[in-house]
Amino acid sequence: MTITRRTTWTRGVGISLLLIAACTMNPATGQRQLTLMSQAQEIEMGRQTHPEVLATFGAYDDPEWQSYIQELGSKIAATSERPELDWTFTVLDDPVVNAMALPGGFIYVNRGILADFNSEAELASVLGHEIGHVTARHSVEAMSRAQLAQLGLGVAAVASEEFRQYAGLASQGLGILFLKFGRDDENQSDALGLRYMTRAGYDPYQMPKVFNTLDRVTQAQGMRGNPEWMSTHPDPGNRVQNIDARIAQLPPELRQGTVGRESYMARVEGLVYGDDVRQGYTIGQTYYHPVLAFKVEFPDQWQIINQRQAVGALSPQRDAAVVLTLSNKDSPRAAFEDFFSQQGVQRGSNEGNNLYSFRAFDPQTGVSKADGLIGFLSHNGQVYQLIGYTAAETWRSYSGAMRQSLASFAKVTQKRYLDVEPKTIDVVSLPRAMTLAEFAKRFPSNAELSDIAILNAVNEDTMLEKGSLVKRIVGGKLPTK
Ligand SMILES: [Zn+2]
Repeated sequence: MTITRRTTWTRGVGISLLLIAACTMNPATGQRQLTLMSQAQEIEMGRQTHPEVLATFGAYDDPEWQSYIQELGSKIAATSERPELDWTFTVLDDPVVNAMALPGGFIYVNRGILADFNSEAELASVLGHEIGHVTARHSVEAMSRAQLAQLGLGVAAVASEEFRQYAGLASQGLGILFLKFGRDDENQSDALGLRYMTRAGYDPYQMPKVFNTLDRVTQAQGMRGNPEWMSTHPDPGNRVQNIDARIAQLPPELRQGTVGRESYMARVEGLVYGDDVRQGYTIGQTYYHPVLAFKVEFPDQWQIINQRQAVGALSPQRDAAVVLTLSNKDSPRAAFEDFFSQQGVQRGSNEGNNLYSFRAFDPQTGVSKADGLIGFLSHNGQVYQLIGYTAAETWRSYSGAMRQSLASFAKVTQKRYLDVEPKTIDVVSLPRAMTLAEFAKRFPSNAELSDIAILNAVNEDTMLEKGSLVKRIVGGKLPTK
């Protein structure tokens, strides 16, 4: 850990850190801890980052889920060694199977992971695990180790900080959410999570079930090349065996708590599953936003990245980007003037379609940072910023594709592109015993059988009893081009 890293992080999150290290006893772990910040600073950091998390991922728009998670989370956190924290639990509108914690008591559960649980006790075990990261102050420790400057999101990860400023993308501060904890931290959080969930009256045997599900999700995502849970939760090794051993040591009265399967299955019915097409979808390289009623065509082979505050595409070599964002200015004119009033931005020529070329450079040294194209337009009462940029050396090879892409922005009026509904979970009570494969034939899903198996924590040939509650995926059909 170095002072340089600490200051890098300090700048990102925007609060000042005393450069004094104190050694304190952690009440949750009973271990002595080298802490670089006080509890007040830790809470302040969470408070400052929380609005940014909400702006970037969005809270899931369902008051029932939000009040439920707050109630359940608070109940579990009250059993922890830090009950006095202002615990805040939020369901994020994110299909990725993950849960995260910020220092100071901010816990996030993606709707993607909620879909995979089959009981309230499973959810309680993950909440307990995340609460454990906070009580053990893992992120406070990890921040001292991590090179936060290298963390980022999506497009932001490949673009430099300077680029981000033009594109209006998420700031560095969110890097804190994506800290990778070590195996020891994960094992410790598992143990703490088990402690808290059992104290809150839940069945501990549901915890290893979650690990099995997460393993299956990770394997499935790994085959698709993107194991999200693993990026924030490294595999602590024999996780299931470790937790089984701990459960065996629990006093018998703690080994028989609430499972809450039926109540959870009733709750999960109607939950949005996978990407929510109302927040944008693609057909080929054409991106449609049904709520904002626009479309844009991205260059061939470019990877489209749809985020809450921006949609964009990256060149295959990841050295050029096209990004659309909403401007906070009242008119394209005002947005245009605001953009070109920035130091280090030089206006070029009008390239047609209201697109202007620009050059960005370091105002101190004059060193070139990027060449690009920028345009602003008004659509349905909102001002959009359209930008394409790359390094000066690659400008010639990309300017044509970027110009064509930005100029393709158009209004969408056809109902079939606008009236799209997301996929949701439907829970079926089986009329008779059948295998999952039979279930999938009789009650079809808009998802692969392998995903339905993971969702229900069974195998394709598992015989399911009459009356079993089984999840399937309905809706979410997109128009064909
Ligand atoms: Zn964890």
